[in-house]
Amino acid sequence: MTSLHLRGTVLPEGDVRDIWVVGDRLTFTRPPGGSTSVHEGGFILPGLVDAHAHLGHDAGTMAFDPALFEAAALAYAGDGTLLLRVPGHREPVPTPLRQRQDLPRLVTAGPWLAWRGLEELDDLQTVPADLTAAGVAQALANDGWCKTYGDWEFDRAKTPQPVLRELCDAVHAVNGRVAAHCQTAEGTRSAVLAGVDSIEHAWFLTPDLLDVLAARGGAVTPTWSGFAGHVSNVRTKPEGPRKDWFLGGVESLRVATVDAWEAGVTVLAGTDSLGHGDVVAEIGHLIAAGLPPAAAIGAGCWDARRYLGFPGIEEGAPADLVAVAEDPRVTPGALRHPSLVLLRGRTAKRR
Ligand SMILES: [Zn+2]
Repeated sequence: MTSLHLRGTVLPEGDVRDIWVVGDRLTFTRPPGGSTSVHEGGFILPGLVDAHAHLGHDAGTMAFDPALFEAAALAYAGDGTLLLRVPGHREPVPTPLRQRQDLPRLVTAGPWLAWRGLEELDDLQTVPADLTAAGVAQALANDGWCKTYGDWEFDRAKTPQPVLRELCDAVHAVNGRVAAHCQTAEGTRSAVLAGVDSIEHAWFLTPDLLDVLAARGGAVTPTWSGFAGHVSNVRTKPEGPRKDWFLGGVESLRVATVDAWEAGVTVLAGTDSLGHGDVVAEIGHLIAAGLPPAAAIGAGCWDARRYLGFPGIEEGAPADLVAVAEDPRVTPGALRHPSLVLLRGRTAKRR
């Protein structure tokens, strides 16, 4: 089998290395036989990650459409985003799409599962009779994850901590993990203390909660992309508790970004997009919030891959690689212009 050869500065370590791709795997040892040089110079990093994406949903009806999913997934692959966590999708991703070698790797979590006591849900959520049983079933049916809610409306009931704890204990017992939507102080606190693994949106986190999360290897996904564009409009709205809640929540995202990272919590880049999300923009939001660029890139690349169970650039790892001309730690926008994208050892993009 002919191998591919790349040479460049490998991130995050920063050493110049030779990488060979044999089939869908990479190796640092020159394989026997000839190899084809596909990249020389610049920087090589693992495929980017959108850790919170809902691709495939129609923005108007919120119906899941396999054709929309395919189009968005192809666009992700083309721009070098090669791993997607999908914490909420209204229908299972069809098996033929899951098996497509030209689409990003998937970590799905099943439908948006809500506790029945949450009021004024929209028609997105599934409200199972038994949340715990449903969460376990979805973790097993998907990629080890289920998705639930710590809260929904700021001025309404929150999911009780014992309900979340029972869910987390049962999902952990089958080696699964729980992601929870958290946008209130009470909901966020309950979710962290109940054992939720990944706090989505992560509003109103406090230092004590960050310590709890860090101690168990937890993660936060601040999803700046879902909020940042609304701030200036919300500022024009009449004063009131909803406005205070939104602006306070977005303000608190610096805690879920910089303080979380400093506390040792894994910070994940997630766009919360219904279609093809812009992970590089989310990385930009993390940097704007004060995260060092290398950490922000890690949140949408090597750290996210590790957290989701996929290695970065190491011996025997999947050959999911992005090559860029400039150092993205200095010029993060360079991530927008990969000169080469390899997914499962195949060329997804070449410039
Ligand atoms: Zn979401």
